[in-house]
Amino acid sequence: MDVVKVRRDFPILERQVHGHPLIYLDNAATSQTPRQVIETLDHYYRHYNANIHRGLHTLADEATVAYETTRETVRGFIGARETREIVFTRGTTEAINLVANSWGRANLGPGDEVLISRLEHHSNIVPWQLLAAERGFTIRVIPVDERGALDMAAYRELINERTRLVAVNHVSNAFGTINPVAEMARIAHEHGALILVDGAQAAPHEIVDVTALDADFYAFSGHKVYGPTGVGVLYGKAALLEAMPPWQGGGEMIRTVSFEAGTTYAEIPHKFEAGTPAIAEVIALGRALEWVGEIGIGLIRAWEHRLLEHAHHELAAIDGLRLLGTAPHKAGVVSFVVEGAHAQDIALLIDQLGVAIRTGNHCAQPLLQQFGVDATCRASFAAYNTPEEIDIFVAALKRAIEMVR
Ligand code: PMP
Repeated sequence: MDVVKVRRDFPILERQVHGHPLIYLDNAATSQTPRQVIETLDHYYRHYNANIHRGLHTLADEATVAYETTRETVRGFIGARETREIVFTRGTTEAINLVANSWGRANLGPGDEVLISRLEHHSNIVPWQLLAAERGFTIRVIPVDERGALDMAAYRELINERTRLVAVNHVSNAFGTINPVAEMARIAHEHGALILVDGAQAAPHEIVDVTALDADFYAFSGHKVYGPTGVGVLYGKAALLEAMPPWQGGGEMIRTVSFEAGTTYAEIPHKFEAGTPAIAEVIALGRALEWVGEIGIGLIRAWEHRLLEHAHHELAAIDGLRLLGTAPHKAGVVSFVVEGAHAQDIALLIDQLGVAIRTGNHCAQPLLQQFGVDATCRASFAAYNTPEEIDIFVAALKRAIEMVR
């Protein structure tokens, strides 16, 4: 992969932070945006900004075509069979809430079980807790081992004929663990359960093929895969989406509305897209996925693995540094704590040197609780990062540790 060429697509990488070149290692929170995506947003607002689906004028037609063409781009990107299996949402969080509120409310009740893992982001925990309080089903938790890998033996023991849904992430945002979701889907289906995969951290880094995975639902966010904020995707198998009741009501999602005869709903996926969507962002997300395709997700993945190995090697040599998340299959995320140095102090100090990392619980409090910490430092990589940036980050980290100790 030609990283120099990749970097040229990201204007933000030219900026300085506190007098130093920006080194952006907070990609698991949000990735930076290539100029092609920025230009797509700009072009939309300059030339064909219009509401979609209902207009008969030229601009509305152009916007509708661009919006619906993106559905096809997304379908291809994740290997779905049909475009009507692609629902646009505000992001991963909204996609999971959609499944919980629509499929979950219609299908879960007392005696049922939902299996989630200890590796989950809060957005794949809390919607199920909210619904469990209302519907009276039970949440059971797949444990993780000391490396931050899912305990697959425990998964096989926990799953049973009462399990209706397995909800698990493809890649953990806190540790970078890649979960064996295809195998988990097979086991779920053997027990008559569905599987929802939170792909927020997989879409930018792994080759995603929802058909090969046999995922029933798959969710991801635009802003983590070089696209804009405010847009995401829910993939759902057509038969499931068709059987699910609408979640939000409003314009766009209806066929007819009547006080006397009742209201009927649009076909999928429109049944789940009430109101005016994030039109510009959807179209720009399509451009982001094309950009990933032009570079090649396989090349991005291999490059990030090099960065990960380099970072692990350098960090492991730092006295008193404890790496969290050492599972054999990992994406480009390093999470660590340093003896005698609070994570927040480290992040603030290295920000003074232009290095952006994240600290905190990464919306994964149950996971961090197991490891006896309430915060870690997390550096996460994208296609535009380089080994030299990791060296600067490690040098900055060493300086910060000396200062706070
Ligand atoms: N799941 C995972 C694994 C994530 O990393 C994130 C974002 N940090 C989310 C869900 C939520 O994504 P969003 O905030 O874009 O809805």
